[in-house]
Amino acid sequence: MIDIQKLHKSYPIGSTALHVLKGLDLCIEEGEFVAIMGASGSGKSTLLNILGLLDTQDEGTYLLNKLPIENLDEKKAAQLRNKFLGFVFQSFNLIAYKTALENVALPLYYQGVAKKERLLMAMEYLEKVGLKDWASHLPNELSGGQKQRVAVARALVTRPKVVLADEPTGALDSTTTGEVMELLKSIHREGMTLIVVTHEEDIAAQTDRIIRLKDGVIVSDEKVKHLV
Ligand code: ADP
Ligand code: MG
Repeated sequence: MIDIQKLHKSYPIGSTALHVLKGLDLCIEEGEFVAIMGASGSGKSTLLNILGLLDTQDEGTYLLNKLPIENLDEKKAAQLRNKFLGFVFQSFNLIAYKTALENVALPLYYQGVAKKERLLMAMEYLEKVGLKDWASHLPNELSGGQKQRVAVARALVTRPKVVLADEPTGALDSTTTGEVMELLKSIHREGMTLIVVTHEEDIAAQTDRIIRLKDGVIVSDEKVKHLV
């Protein structure tokens, strides 16, 4: 699903450059549930943004669903994001003046889906995350865990190939963290490819594979053994 070879990324800092990713290689198969870990500043978000076509590499190759990702203009990148990817962010990124249902339906608007159809599909996904009864509520009427479940429904409504989550439980307390992790696990069981950036060991331990970044490369890549 994801095949990355010798990926480099630097940010210009004044007249010099901060070299963040230094020849990183990474393969992720369809249906995997992967955690990306590393100290703050180690390049986790940089990597996730490149995976998510929100930013571009300086060097190296990236194949997404066998499609080479290079020299994309913003329009093409937006099309591919809409078709292949779902995003979940630490800060939820819900639109404050839209209801839970309208927030979930929004990506379908950008796909040109008719209103009646989008609201039906959005309701189906709200039900999936256990929030059918909250459809007409605004984000500020929801708890943190509920907001993140709305964001997960929004990420899923376009039926993406991969869901990318950057510290999805970073703003949540332990109870709602559990709620959101259970939801991500159930999505994984249905076959979704999920990549979660986290700096919390107990979150990473709930995935199937932990990749650790340090100094711009992967320093460890281990399968998680779950007790059954
Ligand atoms: P992480 O998510 O692991 O905390 P990031 O990928 O956000 O790390 O950042 C890696 C390094 O790159 C940090 O030192 C950060 O300050 C720097 N950085 C990130 N984004 C930018 C940017 N847009 N411009 C300049 N420097 C950046
Ligand atoms: Mg980050």
